[in-house]
Amino acid sequence: MMLADELKKVIKGDVATDDATIETRSRDYSIFKVRPEVVVFPKDTADVKALVKFVRDARNKGKKISLTGRAAGTDMTGGPLSESIVVDFTRYMNRIKEVVDGSRLHQGSGGQAGQAYAVVEPGVYFRDLEPELSKRGLMYPSYPASKDLCAIGGMVMNNSGGEKTLQYGKTDQYVEQLKVVLSDGEEHIIRPISRGALAECAKKRDFESMAWKKLRRLLERHAEEIAYARPDVSKNSSGYSLWNVWDGNTFDPVKLFVGSQGTLGLMTEVTLRLVPRPAHSQLIVIFLRDLRHIGELVNTLLSFKPESIESYDDKTLGVVLRYLPGFIRSMKGDFFKLIWKFLPEVGMVLRGRGIPKMVLLVSLTAHDESELRARTIKLTQAVRRDFRVPVRAVKNKEEEEKYWSIRRQSFALLHGHIKDRDTAPFIDDIAVRPQYLPEFLPKLNAILEQYKDSLVYTIAGHPGDGNFHIIPLMDLKNPKIRALIPQISDEVYALVLKYRGTITAEHNDGIIRTPYLAKMYGKAAAALFGEVKDCFDPLGIFNPGKKVGGTLKFALEHISSAREGKK
Ligand SMILES: Cc1cc2nc3c(=O)[nH]c(=O)nc-3n(C[C@H](O)[C@H](O)[C@H](O)COP(=O)(O)OP(=O)(O)OC[C@H]3O[C@@H](n4cnc5c(N)ncnc54)[C@H](O)[C@@H]3O)c2cc1C
Repeated sequence: MMLADELKKVIKGDVATDDATIETRSRDYSIFKVRPEVVVFPKDTADVKALVKFVRDARNKGKKISLTGRAAGTDMTGGPLSESIVVDFTRYMNRIKEVVDGSRLHQGSGGQAGQAYAVVEPGVYFRDLEPELSKRGLMYPSYPASKDLCAIGGMVMNNSGGEKTLQYGKTDQYVEQLKVVLSDGEEHIIRPISRGALAECAKKRDFESMAWKKLRRLLERHAEEIAYARPDVSKNSSGYSLWNVWDGNTFDPVKLFVGSQGTLGLMTEVTLRLVPRPAHSQLIVIFLRDLRHIGELVNTLLSFKPESIESYDDKTLGVVLRYLPGFIRSMKGDFFKLIWKFLPEVGMVLRGRGIPKMVLLVSLTAHDESELRARTIKLTQAVRRDFRVPVRAVKNKEEEEKYWSIRRQSFALLHGHIKDRDTAPFIDDIAVRPQYLPEFLPKLNAILEQYKDSLVYTIAGHPGDGNFHIIPLMDLKNPKIRALIPQISDEVYALVLKYRGTITAEHNDGIIRTPYLAKMYGKAAAALFGEVKDCFDPLGIFNPGKKVGGTLKFALEHISSAREGKK
């Protein structure tokens, strides 16, 4: 019997093998194409449990099928791609179950009195959750720039970050509790466990208790190696975050599961901690003609405790201006009002000079308006005095929207509009401590300059965390150009690792970076990731080739131009 027919007997939800469904799920926003055999749309947790039991039994009989979770498919790494069964959560498991504003205690969700929470399923799009929070004066601060496209399952499983991460931290700091179907086919509540409760677990023989016991033993036995492997950065999505799980008092497996790219189980529900929206905010824009003093500048800006420091480069702005009407239509607001806001930038291009090499967006927030005003004045004065670069506090919402849209939408714009080349995220998410930027950035530029005849690239990112998204535009149909991918990756990652940085601060490993984990952490620490995988998924049911076991050969064989079939 065909796999799809067998699956139809196992779940209530949909099972699809039609070409349109398979084609769309064979891509994310990465450089890869991997065609799944079947796509399933579970109706509920019972379906997810049935899927896991079905695949477990099949693997026990030697069949090589597996389950890969998928939310909105905006991953840049190939994380939700699989040759076997893709489990798409967006069709049915997309309910916002509860938003708790903090004035009452929510039993059973992991919530605490006085704390605001949302309990949601993995297929909920962030764009649907955000307004529900806004109307209650709340926000979930660790949303990515893809917030209008992505869904919660992917945000949690990638440990996503974004423009507010500088002040608020990443997703792992906002997940109170997860519900995950593990390889025993049962749904488990994943939440922090006290030392005493962990000792109780050690006496039990059930699947979950055994997994905690094995994990604890591994963490204690290799504590030194694990501490040494930890990158020296403010945010990281590479590997498994073993250093955050066990501090001797609290055993927190949430920190392991968040960012695990669905390699340890399928998530069915998450309880997210929410924070109050600050009452007032001010966007300040700084225009840099060169990057000579960016490191010192970022350090000065950090002393004003900004909510975010974001950036985009001259090439990003160039792309936006080239596709201006389409870009404005993708923005929220009045088309004609917004088009006026771009006149200064259009003027710069027409005059052929004045386009800044990099634009920094600095957001200050406060609950008190006069305190915010005073901080804004001090910051702009310090930047003018010490760095002699143009800086301005933005006056209205349309202008603010302009800058944020350039920052957030540029990748999607490139992805959708450039016809003769592909957006090629492969060194898309490096980070080092901001204090190294003055030394690091010229060296990075020197590497990229060597390839300037073969690739143009845009750089946007989060300089406050020393995190940059380099997105080359390449002709992926050309084998010689494709061969540059491992070559450039090797050079860039070697540089990043000299500064004990990370090869991925928020986008995660997927197909593109799993082969580099041994380089990032060393062979011994990377081998521990395999042992962690074995604690939870000894049969290899979940998302194979991500975090553990992925090869450069597989990656290179599955690079595919997204322009295939396009005119
Ligand atoms: C324009 C653009 C901008 C971006 N900006 C950012 C950014 O600022 N910051 C950032 O962090 N990322 C960014 N990304 C990357 C991506 O959008 C985020 O990582 C996002 O959170 C992924 O969400 P998704 O719903 O699309 O997940 P998907 O792509 O569907 O999945 C992501 C991973 O999660 C796993 N997964 C999903 N659901 C489940 C589940 N229920 N159980 C188990 N595993 C599951 C998948 O297997 C996959 O490994 C950007 C992407 C684009 C296209």
